[in-house]
Amino acid sequence: MSFDFDAVVVGAGAVGLACGYALSKRGLTVLVLEKEGHIGQGVSSRNSEVIHGGLYYPTGSLKARYCVEGRRSLYAFLDSHKIDYRKCGKLVVATQEAEVAGIEAIFERATANGVENLEHLTGAQARALEPALNAHSAILSPESGLFASHDYMLALQGEIEDAGGSVVVSTPFERAEPLPGGGFTVTAGGEGGAALTTRLLVTAPGLQAQAVAARIDGFPADHIPAGHFGKGVYFRLTGKAPFERLIYPPPIPGALGTHYRKDLGGQAVFGPDLVYVETEDYSVDPAKAAEFERYIRRFWPGLPESALTPDYAGIRPKLHGLGEPQPDFQLRGRDDHGLDGLVALFGIESPGLTSSLAIGDAVADLLHA
Ligand SMILES: Cc1cc2nc3c(=O)[nH]c(=O)nc-3n(C[C@H](O)[C@H](O)[C@H](O)COP(=O)(O)OP(=O)(O)OC[C@H]3O[C@@H](n4cnc5c(N)ncnc54)[C@H](O)[C@@H]3O)c2cc1C
Repeated sequence: MSFDFDAVVVGAGAVGLACGYALSKRGLTVLVLEKEGHIGQGVSSRNSEVIHGGLYYPTGSLKARYCVEGRRSLYAFLDSHKIDYRKCGKLVVATQEAEVAGIEAIFERATANGVENLEHLTGAQARALEPALNAHSAILSPESGLFASHDYMLALQGEIEDAGGSVVVSTPFERAEPLPGGGFTVTAGGEGGAALTTRLLVTAPGLQAQAVAARIDGFPADHIPAGHFGKGVYFRLTGKAPFERLIYPPPIPGALGTHYRKDLGGQAVFGPDLVYVETEDYSVDPAKAAEFERYIRRFWPGLPESALTPDYAGIRPKLHGLGEPQPDFQLRGRDDHGLDGLVALFGIESPGLTSSLAIGDAVADLLHA
């Protein structure tokens, strides 16, 4: 049977586009469907834009592997496509002796994960790099950085289109039905939408992962993991950025914790925190500034009064509830759900942006593309 497309990808965020890019590189004709009017308007537009080293994730997990591999591929992609980034490095800081064991455990894990060039720093060494910092001791990760993630997504779109594929916006995926001899009929486009056929189907719809999987005929409902929304807000500093490097205190349960970055525009941004919410609510409560100030002063005692202004919020597509252990990325193929030619992604929270190119390659491998 001949198909309209070799592969359809649902969702034009960083991960869906990276999947489309990986499949295009293997010679497939790819169609990426995006419900919004532009690419990259979902989770990929509301994050820290940090290129993570791969320090924190359990050794052997997909998060650890894809973060390290994805980071290496990402820097190479950014170089070859002339996309703006700053490999500024990161300091993971113990602000007091009680936090030293925590950052030591991170060092051990990061080393086991294959993170390169890590260094132990005393408080004095850390302050020699960042004079405004309060640090008992720190770990330096020179491989960490930040990048222009929207330019990255535009470059992925360009690669897909150069290979003969298409990225179509304002075209929501409605449903998919497996065809008897293999492949799928996909209906997309809302009212009066069209049906098309594809041999392979990838779902990368971020916060809508569960809803999209539920609209694939034959996808067993008990194989769709429960989803949760983990909201995080950011505050921006009025005034000069105090540090050059990313500054991360030890992680909080369920997230990496409120950190500092000097963004590519040179402005200082703090966040995100973690609060579970029921709906996609992107408001930032200005009253949270006091809580942020208390937290930030642990590593930056010089934070002036009333210098923080509410900035933006993002929502993590979480697979665990408050206080539950944080699961790995889930790339569900035929062995999980029984549908040949389908990979469904769930729980692609941080470090999904850093890992995106590695996730794309892993999805293409799972599909034997
Ligand atoms: C607060 C926060 C901070 C983060 N910081 C970092 C960081 O610094 N570094 C890092 O590596 N990672 C970070 N992450 C994680 C990273 O942002 C995500 O893992 C990544 O952006 C997920 O990309 P995605 O393509 O899976 O999802 P999305 O970007 O959400 O893309 C999914 C797309 O699917 C579309 N879609 C949904 N339903 C349909 C449908 N029915 N039909 C068609 N299209 C549909 C959506 O509109 C969306 O465009 C952070 C996340 C958050 C929330």
